[in-house]
Amino acid sequence: MEVGLDFDGVFIDTSLVKSKLALALYGVYIPPEQFKREVVVGCGLLTDEQYTKVSRTASSDLELTLSMPPLPNSVYFTNRLLHEGHGVRVVTSRDGYNAWIAMQYMLYYGLFLTLSGVGYRIPKTDACRGLDFYADDDLDKLIPLVGIVPRLYLFSWPYNSHLTIPSNITGKTYSWSHIYSLISGRNVV
Ligand SMILES: [Mg+2]
Repeated sequence: MEVGLDFDGVFIDTSLVKSKLALALYGVYIPPEQFKREVVVGCGLLTDEQYTKVSRTASSDLELTLSMPPLPNSVYFTNRLLHEGHGVRVVTSRDGYNAWIAMQYMLYYGLFLTLSGVGYRIPKTDACRGLDFYADDDLDKLIPLVGIVPRLYLFSWPYNSHLTIPSNITGKTYSWSHIYSLISGRNVV
C-alpha cells in the first residue's frame, strides 16, 4: 500500500513547543493539547497573525523542531510498515527550509522517506496522487483529497475531536498502533 502522512501533528508533536512560545512571545498560556489555529484564534487567545508567528517560529528553527517528540510509536510503526513492504511518504505544508528541517528530523530518527513540501495553505492534491491511504490532523487538508486518495483519515487530537467528519472522509484515527492496524489489517497487541 502507498501511505502518505502529514508531518506536524501526525508524525511529530508540536504542541508543547508552541505552547511555550506563545507564553514567551505573548504572555498567554494555552494548554498544549488545544494548540490549533481554529481553537486558539477562534477563542481569541491569539490573533491569526500571532498564531502564524508562533507556528512559523516553531517550524523554521531546526533545534526547536528537533526538541519536539515524535508521536508515541510513530517511528516504530513507520519502520514496521516499511519493513512489511509498504511505501511511506511525508506530505507536509512546510516548504523550503522548513521542509528541509522536517527531512532532517526524519533522518535524525533513522527514517529515509520521500518528503513533499507543498507550501502553506496550498492543497496537497498533486503530492497525494497515487496514495492509497493518507492521514492528516487538519480536516481542511483532507477535503480536497476526496476522490484522489481512497482512504482518508483525520488524526484526532483534543483540538479537532469536536469535528464531525463528512461521510466521504473514511474515518478518524487516534494512535499509531491504530494507523498500523488500518494499513496492515493486523491488530496490535
Ligand atoms: Mg498537521
